[in-house]
Amino acid sequence: MTNKLTVLSGIRPTGYLHLGNYFGAVRSFVKMQHDYNCFFFIADIHSLTTHPTPENLQAGVKQVLAEYLACGIDPEKATIFIQSDVPEVSELYAFLNMNAYLGELERTTSFKDKARQQPDNVNAGLLTYPVLMAADILIHKANFVPVGKDQEQNLEMARKFAQRFNYMYKTELFPLPKPYTFDGKDMIKVPGLDGSGKMGKSEGNAINLYEDPKDIRKKVMRAVTDSGPTEPNQPKSEPVENLFTLLKIVSTPDTVAHFDALYNNCEIRYGDLKKQLAEDIIAYTSPIRERIIENLKDEAYLGRVAKLGAEKARESAARTLQEVKEVIGFKRLF
Ligand code: AMP
Repeated sequence: MTNKLTVLSGIRPTGYLHLGNYFGAVRSFVKMQHDYNCFFFIADIHSLTTHPTPENLQAGVKQVLAEYLACGIDPEKATIFIQSDVPEVSELYAFLNMNAYLGELERTTSFKDKARQQPDNVNAGLLTYPVLMAADILIHKANFVPVGKDQEQNLEMARKFAQRFNYMYKTELFPLPKPYTFDGKDMIKVPGLDGSGKMGKSEGNAINLYEDPKDIRKKVMRAVTDSGPTEPNQPKSEPVENLFTLLKIVSTPDTVAHFDALYNNCEIRYGDLKKQLAEDIIAYTSPIRERIIENLKDEAYLGRVAKLGAEKARESAARTLQEVKEVIGFKRLF
């Protein structure tokens, strides 16, 4: 055991990792592994809310594992594990469900969004998603959770459940987990290329880390814009603002300032901005893509990483679960 603070975060194996996952989450994972006791997992139980086939689930888990490693998460430094390899988390989930209330779960934005997206499959797992997420975090007594802005509310709920448990059992067993952002500033939201708010796996507006440079250029060139500014310093429309947000994430400040000035003078050509944006994205993604391809070929390596991670994660989870059970009163008096 070290006295380093603990970090935990996970990603669902429901598709290729995209720029939103990278800049919202994985980039922080890579940075944090040097200074914290880190747990990064593949949230395969969470992904069951959308009913994947067994084949899709298996392929998705392998892909995210290969992608985590390709992004630079080091299995010697951080614990990388698959959620279903640690059954203790499901046990804690069952306990926490007893003091999570229907009203607060129904009011969660992510639940309302998902219920709208999949009206024929509004299952109980969707409703209690924040409870499972809280169990993921609390079972390792995480202090920090690096997630994107979209998870802010779920993280608040995890804090609430931890606090409620501590209060109910008069204990300080769970630390209250805090968000973590890459540069200590606001939580990040990477926009989509379709003029909409958020880049997402299921929104069909994402650029994946695994994507071929040719396809990245095509996608960026097709991104939604407008007909251009007609007066100096005109406010930007949402789709154009989104392109600038992406540019700020992947390009140098000089490049951003250059296109900003062109926009403000009504001299911008969106085609030029898109070409630059595509090349700067590719500079980020192509070395990662090459490593993903290598990792996917090396199943023995992936297997070793998963096994080592499962052992380390179970040890930590079992320790917390034991304490939780004692506090709750699952302790025989006979
Ligand atoms: P998910 O793909 O929903 O499993 O999300 C995995 C992680 O990526 C979470 O920490 C999210 O907050 C983060 N994330 C997903 N999409 C975005 C986005 N467009 N911008 C910022 N972070 C994101």
